[in-house]
Amino acid sequence: MMRPLGAAICLGLLAACASTPSPVEVRTVPREALPAGPVAAAGTFQPNAYLRSCGGIYVTNAPPMDDDFWVEGYKPVIMVGPVVLATAPANDVCLSSGFGIRSERRHDGIDLQSVPPGTVYSAAPGTILEARVSNGYGNMVLIDHGGGVYTRYAHLAYFADGIEPGAKVGFGQPIGMMGQSGNATAIHLHYEILTGNYNNPKGSKGLNPRDPFEFPAYDPDAGS
Ligand SMILES: [Zn+2]
Repeated sequence: MMRPLGAAICLGLLAACASTPSPVEVRTVPREALPAGPVAAAGTFQPNAYLRSCGGIYVTNAPPMDDDFWVEGYKPVIMVGPVVLATAPANDVCLSSGFGIRSERRHDGIDLQSVPPGTVYSAAPGTILEARVSNGYGNMVLIDHGGGVYTRYAHLAYFADGIEPGAKVGFGQPIGMMGQSGNATAIHLHYEILTGNYNNPKGSKGLNPRDPFEFPAYDPDAGS
């Protein structure tokens, strides 16, 4: 499968890389493979076409990875029920932790980093349910995408203008800046996909955290 060969390898061995695909060409998901409509006006969200562990090393809760630490079968745009969702809602990110039990505690999302820290985007169209400061999550945004699908974005440095409860957002709309607020030990985005019904006694804590790597790929040619 085509993937961006390690940039460092190509930089060091330019001649050897001459016949390989340009990392720039395959680095991000082409526009036509993203959902139609609002995304065209959404600005600068360019989802990674492939996802690698940060530093090309083992990370906690890692999904299946190849020998070079690329996530196997990575799907950058997925279907969560009826909702088309970005799997990693920030540009040029690597994976610093996966979903699941970690140090005997549940890790309800995945951790993504970029250097430098970048803008965090809405993974799908929706309505902001929460945009507030939480002890653990820090500056946190929770979005309702309809169909019983929600996403959470935590540890933000700050919220983007207009991100407040009740505000509508489009696919790839900026919602804040990657940061280290709350109980984060490094600058990163903690990103959760949640399903269920928010209108329960526990609110977002009554939703079901889902593994972002387990959903089927969005097929823009399938029609809708
Ligand atoms: Zn996390």
